[in-house]
Amino acid sequence: MRYDCIIIGSGPAGLSAAINLKTYNKNFLWFGNANLSDKVEKAEKVNNYPGLYGVSGKELQEAFRRHKDAMELEITDKIVSAVYNMGGYYNVMAENQFFETESIILAMGVVTANQYKGEAEFVGRGVSYCATCDGALYRGKKIAVISTSKRFEHEVKFLAELAEQVYLFPFYKECEMEGDNITLIKTAPKEITGGFRVERLELVNGETLEPDGIFIMRSSIAPTTLLADLQMEDGHIAVNRKQETNLQGVYAIGDCTGKPYQYAKAVGEGNVAAHSVIEYLGEK
Ligand SMILES: Cc1cc2nc3c(=O)[nH]c(=O)nc-3n(C[C@H](O)[C@H](O)[C@H](O)COP(=O)(O)OP(=O)(O)OC[C@H]3O[C@@H](n4cnc5c(N)ncnc54)[C@H](O)[C@@H]3O)c2cc1C
Repeated sequence: MRYDCIIIGSGPAGLSAAINLKTYNKNFLWFGNANLSDKVEKAEKVNNYPGLYGVSGKELQEAFRRHKDAMELEITDKIVSAVYNMGGYYNVMAENQFFETESIILAMGVVTANQYKGEAEFVGRGVSYCATCDGALYRGKKIAVISTSKRFEHEVKFLAELAEQVYLFPFYKECEMEGDNITLIKTAPKEITGGFRVERLELVNGETLEPDGIFIMRSSIAPTTLLADLQMEDGHIAVNRKQETNLQGVYAIGDCTGKPYQYAKAVGEGNVAAHSVIEYLGEK
């Protein structure tokens, strides 16, 4: 089955796009976090969102959730790790499954985590963002896993069942991972080095590990890692007033398109992109 559209990201921007696609009865999939957006929840007080003066981030998140539920919008709680341009349509990969779509709305928020030195260079040559996709390549081998959230623990467990040794760097509170072949490391990684493939992971304290592969589990992935050939401008996805990117059928909205990083901008762009998608599908 080929979807009309796939939305990647479940913050206010993605929600707004989903509301509008549903209103126009489009057949779409919406990937993101079942909790919508951790960023929204973190705001202490929100004074610039029309109609909701003085709400807390938690209250705003709850209002978003009620809207989502009232319209029976479903979030597929999976991280999208790659998008492939098939020439006329797209293939979206999420946790080892592929989904075909005519169009895409990128609403991933802004990637705040800096990439490690060497990370981009070794993607596909020892650096992976997807345990289920690439885990089998490391059966009986040594791997490092850098994880930014508890939600990835089931993937770490899966990797630990395959690998001989897992060096786990948990960058979140209350890590409960344990196992004979899991070593927890509290020192931050600094640089990934090697030849054709990954050979070493250097740490900030000067120590060096020699893993066969490195899995990096983040809730957001750099746009150009997700979709090659996407045009960027000052670190954000370049878009025009219809939220179109340089790739036909691909739209971007919210923080990932640039400042100001604000709810109102995110939902406005979500609305515009959904209408652009509807127009694009009509023309197709
Ligand atoms: C502490 C704090 C206070 C703030 N206060 C205000 C305020 O008062 N007023 C205001 O206007 N703005 C405020 N903001 C900014 C506001 O939160 C953002 O502008 C807004 O959340 C952007 O929405 P978004 O939909 O673009 O992205 P986000 O809210 O970042 O949502 C992106 C979502 O997409 C998911 N995602 C990312 N990549 C993938 C992937 N590959 N696969 C699947 N899912 C993915 C993420 O997990 C996340 O859930 C505040 C932000 C913070 C951190």
